Amino acid sequence: MQTVETDGKTDVKSLTLEELQKTMEDMGEKAFRAKQLYQWMHEKLAGSYEEMTNLSASFKEKCRERFWYASLETVRVQESKIDGTRKYLFGLRDGNVVESVWMQYKHGNSVCISSQVGCRMGCRFCASTLDGLERNLTPSEMLEQIYSITKHTGQRVSNVVVMGTGEPMDNYDNLIRFLKLLTDENGLNVSQRNVTVSTCGLVPRMKQFAGEGLQVTLALSLHASNDEKRRKLMPIANKYSIRELMEACDYYFKQTGRRITFEYSLVGGVNDTDEDAEELSRLAAKLCCHVNLIPVNPIKERDYVQSEAKRVLAFKNKLERNKINVTIRREMGRDIDGACGQLRRKHKESISMEGTGGQQGC
Ligand code: SAH
Repeated sequence: MQTVETDGKTDVKSLTLEELQKTMEDMGEKAFRAKQLYQWMHEKLAGSYEEMTNLSASFKEKCRERFWYASLETVRVQESKIDGTRKYLFGLRDGNVVESVWMQYKHGNSVCISSQVGCRMGCRFCASTLDGLERNLTPSEMLEQIYSITKHTGQRVSNVVVMGTGEPMDNYDNLIRFLKLLTDENGLNVSQRNVTVSTCGLVPRMKQFAGEGLQVTLALSLHASNDEKRRKLMPIANKYSIRELMEACDYYFKQTGRRITFEYSLVGGVNDTDEDAEELSRLAAKLCCHVNLIPVNPIKERDYVQSEAKRVLAFKNKLERNKINVTIRREMGRDIDGACGQLRRKHKESISMEGTGGQQGC
């Protein structure tokens, strides 16, 4: 693996333990320093070198000179009055902001992280993509979202979903590094089986992902069951057909043994008819999969509306009658801009309005 550099310095929190050991050697330091430093960063979640009490001042000074130590500034935290879901807005070193969500379930705490600042995939209903892609997040910046939330809540995170802003497969190398660090036994040690990566469907990357030897769940944002409808909602559908996507999903299942999740956002009058449900059933029946229905979260920039509640139920019933595993995703944090990219967007808007002497947005 290539080492990661930020501002001309090695991004120390993105290094694997083996890489850190090699780096210590190069620095003329004892090998055990690597494990000490690694555990401070990834297990004890130290916010800075000051907290690393068993390391000498001179060693820490060397580290400061040589390394960039990723950390996030907590810009805003919103807590849902309905279900306790918390939405975090984090500031990055270059002034960009990203959002992450903390959700409590019976089976544990889950964090949804962003993988990029903005997104270039252009899905029509998604707020994250409206201004395009700003930049990729480093592995350390992805990890830090989880570390910061763990410290803020004082509770262990057991599940991680890469379903926030960005297309993880468009930031592939950093994604893989992030997943390895997140699930490393010397770090936070999150179980691979409790990690989900969601993609809009970059077929070559999905296939490559199948060969990484990871046991994570792959979620495919399908949102339509034929190419024509999918192309209206997702520009990526012009590049890869549903047939190619299904082949890639099947390949992922065969390589990893992990059941695929299909995400299907129900948009009123667009993809929620009985015929859509039948077509989706035919696709899903051919694979070991689970369908997650998500009533679309309307964003003000687009005029898509949610399917009516009884339509959502009818759609689900149809899939069930066709013996498809299906759930309707519980809407978490609806009162706190739960939809992908909404909080970051509001924040950006409020800053530009401050600049023009206007009212603050959120
Ligand atoms: N780029 C990845 C992951 C980020 S989006 C992907 O496409 O899967 C996470 C999920 O939320 C995707 O299924 C996406 O299509 C969906 N999504 C985005 N905006 C939404 C909205 N306004 N309402 C419902 N689902 C939305």
